[in-house]
Amino acid sequence: PTVFDVQRIRADFPLLARTVHDKPLVYLDNANTSQKPLSVIEAVDRHYRERNANVARAVHQLGEEATAAYEGARDRLVRFLNAPSRNEVILTSGTTQSINLVAYSYALPQLKPGDSILTTVMEHHANIVPWQLVGARSGATVKAAPIDERGELIVEKYVEMLTPEVKLACVTHVSNVLGTVNPVREIARECRKRGIPLLVDGSQAAPHRPVDVQALGCDFYAVTGHKMLGPTGTGALWAKREHLEAMPPFFGGGEMIREVKFSGTTFAAPPHKFEAGTPNIAGFAGLSAAIDYYASVGFEAIHAWEQQLLHYATERLREVPGLRIIGEAAEKEPVISFLLEGAQATDLATLLDLQGVAVRSGHHCAHPLMQFYGVPATLRASLAFYNTREEIDAFVVALLKVRKLLM
Ligand code: PMP
Repeated sequence: PTVFDVQRIRADFPLLARTVHDKPLVYLDNANTSQKPLSVIEAVDRHYRERNANVARAVHQLGEEATAAYEGARDRLVRFLNAPSRNEVILTSGTTQSINLVAYSYALPQLKPGDSILTTVMEHHANIVPWQLVGARSGATVKAAPIDERGELIVEKYVEMLTPEVKLACVTHVSNVLGTVNPVREIARECRKRGIPLLVDGSQAAPHRPVDVQALGCDFYAVTGHKMLGPTGTGALWAKREHLEAMPPFFGGGEMIREVKFSGTTFAAPPHKFEAGTPNIAGFAGLSAAIDYYASVGFEAIHAWEQQLLHYATERLREVPGLRIIGEAAEKEPVISFLLEGAQATDLATLLDLQGVAVRSGHHCAHPLMQFYGVPATLRASLAFYNTREEIDAFVVALLKVRKLLM
């Protein structure tokens, strides 16, 4: 096994030291939201203690420092995503806002009856519902590419469905329920051949692997800060310049204009054109610290450790009688959905919580995926690089104990 000083890492995450129901916390709900290192918590705190002011409005020192903190987050995201230009990275409140921005500002103005948007059966509702909403307004339809039993996208079908009436193709980089890693480069290549822009939901990829939007070859890439060690209410959308130039603003208000007149208003250039109003400045100061934290550990080490944990957890879970893992893709990030014969997912999650183990139960905002597997809900254990083998052992012990109670 790779040498990875997980205890040193854990010491940076204050919350991991707490107990729940008098048991040490075993936090396995990282796909829902990650915990935050002290450096992120302190960055948010420092913002309000030392430089609280609004951005881009004041020439005074605090205003300049607040603006530098906010724009500093953009610079880090530019590097984090390997975006070609800082003008292509829009700061948002998270993936949901990023995708809705594309839906209302990019897709809606050009959609007409007969058009369609292609998505997949394994998407989070954030990559389905916005398309349905703009579809309802424009007369366009939403098509969903199928997956197989193992939880892998059937790429040939996806490509077959890239027909001329498709105005935008969408896919998640990594499934929040199954952990499946989709072949985004290949999909992007097929989309480019047909002149169809591709939007990638990177919510579950960015916390686990280096993202390079130029190498992926997509048109839009959305991330959410709170799943990648950052504060809630932060996120980003990277989009190709040509799209951002053509897109009308989504929200109107302060910060996004060039000149306002009742006879007609002109808008700021991207990215500011899409950033109306006062943003989550403190949150972005925290997100900067989160990105710096990833850089200090390095994704190579993170990925190696997480893959070890994923394999270990998968093996250990297979020892539990009656347990069925949902999603067995060849390439996965550390997310494991499962069911236990004879037990309701929510009952199990409640009993696991009493043992200090936090997992998620439910549909994980992926109703169509639940429908595909014919289940109302699953349990999901999702790991981060600060998890340990001992925590997985504790999780399996708790699961065996709880199973006895329910049988
Ligand atoms: N897409 C995926 C794949 C997700 O896992 C999530 C969060 N569960 C979202 C989108 C939505 O992210 P947010 O709620 O932070 O906007």
